[in-house]
Formats: sequence, C-alpha cells, structure tokens
Amino acid sequence: MALSDIRPLRLFREILRSWGARWDGICRRCGICCYERTLSRSGELVVNLSSPCEHLDPETRLCLIYRDRFRLCPDCRRMTIFHARFSRYLPPSCGYVRKFRRKKVLSGHVLRGLPEEPGNDPS
Ligand code: SF4
Ligand code: SF4
Repeated sequence: MALSDIRPLRLFREILRSWGARWDGICRRCGICCYERTLSRSGELVVNLSSPCEHLDPETRLCLIYRDRFRLCPDCRRMTIFHARFSRYLPPSCGYVRKFRRKKVLSGHVLRGLPEEPGNDPS
C-alpha cells in the first residue's frame, strides 16, 4: 500500500467509527428488544421479562457480547431505519422508533414476567 493511501483509509475508518457511535447513541439502553416479545390480539407489544436473551445482563440491561453479537447470537437482529420505522416488535419508547417513525406511536407496551408493579411500563 502506498503511503499516500493510508491517510484517506484512516479518515474513512474514523468516519465509520464516528457514524457507528452516533447510531448506537440513539439507543436508550432499555434492553426491551433483548427479551422475548409477542403481539397481543389487539396488536399490543407484550414483553416477557422472564425470558431475556442469554447474553443480556439483567442488572444493567446491556449486551455482554455487544461487539460480537451478530456472530455469536443467531437471533440478534441488526437495527435498521426500516426496522425502526415498521417493526411492530419494538416498543414506542425505543430511541430509534422515536427518531424515525413519522406517525408517533401513542400506546405503550405491556411488561410480563415481573411481580405486579404499578408503573412498570417505561414508555
Ligand atoms: S445478543 Fe443481541 S439480543 Fe442478545 S443481549 Fe446482545 S444485543 Fe440483545
Ligand atoms: S428497544 Fe430500542 S432503545 Fe431499547 S435497547 Fe432496544 S434498540 Fe435500544
């Protein structure tokens, strides 16, 4: 590789890293998308808090294998603008939903798998 090629490559990597950090920064670290989720008959998102992904730290709700998640976890899905706009399996409180969905979702979601607690809906 010629010396003159190194700087643009470094710059490109830096731009990618910065873009990735900004994209990740949209996430509110709620961890909801790392639990089993279903839709109720009425279309409401139901999150089963007793069934987290095996790689989720339940205390911090952060992924323990974040950098390698797509390699190590076959169920892990990459967040895209398409998912943010159309997926019914993301909570209205998700940072990506809030940022990219034009029609604001007004309803919350139901959390299951915890002792009954008033106000356990973080939306
Ligand atoms: S592997 Fe994916 S689904 Fe599992 S905890 Fe990490 S980010 Fe969440
Ligand atoms: S639901 Fe959205 S905000 Fe919450 S952890 Fe998943 S991507 Fe981040």
